[in-house]
Amino acid sequence: MNLTLHQIDTTIEMLSDAISDMKQKGEDTKEAERALAEYTVEHLPKKVDAIAGNLRSWKADHTKAVNEIERMQAVAKDLDERITRLKGIAKEVMETREVNKLNGFASTLRLQGNGGPQELEVYDASLLPNRCLARMLVVPEETCQSIINQYTEKGYMSSRDSMLIASGIAHCQIVSNENAIRKELNTVCEACNGKIVECSACGSTGRHLVPGARLKPRGNHVRVENR
Ligand SMILES: [Zn+2]
Repeated sequence: MNLTLHQIDTTIEMLSDAISDMKQKGEDTKEAERALAEYTVEHLPKKVDAIAGNLRSWKADHTKAVNEIERMQAVAKDLDERITRLKGIAKEVMETREVNKLNGFASTLRLQGNGGPQELEVYDASLLPNRCLARMLVVPEETCQSIINQYTEKGYMSSRDSMLIASGIAHCQIVSNENAIRKELNTVCEACNGKIVECSACGSTGRHLVPGARLKPRGNHVRVENR
C-alpha cells in the first residue's frame, strides 16, 4: 500500500474513532482492531511523530477526563448534602408542628415513615444476657476439613482438635449477637400476650425486652410530590 503521510494519519484516526464507536455500541471490534494494528505496524517507521502525537494528546485528554470526574463527584456530593440539609429542615418543621404534609401551590412535602428493618442499638453491651452474645471463632479451613473427616469417618473429634477449638473459644472476643437480640425483641411478651396494654413485664411494648439493647424508633423522611 502506498499512501501519503496525511492519508495514513487520517486512517489511524478513523480506525481509532470507529473502534471507540463500535465499543460504545457493544459491537465486536476484533476485526477493526486487527486492521488498525496491521495498518500501524505497516506504516510505523514513517509515522513515529504522528503516533507519538496521538499518544500524547490522548493522555492529556485522559487526564482532563479524570479531573472532570473528580470535579463532578464533588458537585454530586455537595448537591447530596444540600438535599439532606434542606429535607432535614422540612422534616423538623413538620415534626415540630405535628403535621405530615405541607402544601404549596404546585407541590406537597410529605413526611413518610422509613421502611425496612428498625435500626438496632446496643447501648450497653455489658448488660446483654448470654443468650444475646456470641463468640466469633476463626478456624483454619484445614482444621475444619480434618474435623469434618474425623466425624464422617470415625464419629468423633480428636482430643487435639477439641483442645484447639476449646482454647480458641476461650480466647476469642465476645460480641453482641444481633440476630439473637432481634429475635428476642420480636418475641411476644407472655405476660400480656403482645397486647399493647399496661404491662410491667415488657414495658407495654408487647414484646420481650433485652437489657442493653433496643430497636430505635422508625424515623421519617421527606418526600416531594406534585399536587
Ligand atoms: Zn407485656
